Amino acid sequence: MDDRQFRNAMGKFATGVTVIATEVEGEGVHGMTANAFMSVSLDPKLVVISIGENAKILPKINQSNLFTVNILAANQQELSMIFAGQLKEHKEVVFDQLDGKPVIPGSVVQIACEVSTKHVEGDHTLFIGKVTDIRIEDAEPLVFYSGRYRSLKEDTPVTV
Ligand code: FAD
Repeated sequence: MDDRQFRNAMGKFATGVTVIATEVEGEGVHGMTANAFMSVSLDPKLVVISIGENAKILPKINQSNLFTVNILAANQQELSMIFAGQLKEHKEVVFDQLDGKPVIPGSVVQIACEVSTKHVEGDHTLFIGKVTDIRIEDAEPLVFYSGRYRSLKEDTPVTV
């Protein structure tokens, strides 16, 4: 099996799109687009994210021991592109705060976390986050499937 086949197969799992953000004192906020996000436990409330070994955000989360997960809204595709390094020009992004951690205003859900444990697996690090606060907004989510951004509104209504 080659890398392309693996990537193509994993891309067939339709997901939302998040921006993971963290803040190291004196260095400002750093964000990164990610769709490797999952809820882990209800009691205690835990989530997991998976960060590639070359991502600049990796040493920052290791240092700050905190991160937020911001589930992007359908109208926030540009933010996904900014934080995936897909835009040539630098764009200023204004962050809000939740439980003292940087979050993206207008995102569908903002989840503030403290790092509970981490596991290095292959070329990624899995961070288990203990959820310290959540904010939910009324918006449609951005969807990512097979390497393309989508919106739930495009889809044909499902008949049950
Ligand atoms: P950089 O490459 O430095 O940052 C990315 C971009 O964010 C840069 O352009 C930077 O200017 C901008 N940026 C950072 N902070 C700010 C700020 N405060 N204000 C304005 N701009 C800022 N990778 C993973 O490891 N795990 C995943 O789950 C994952 N899922 C992805 C899902 C999708 C849909 C996409 C498109 C990409 C995904 N990636 C994932 C890849 C990842 O987003 C890119 O590799 C990213 O460029 C790596 O970011 P970095 O931390 O190395 O930082």
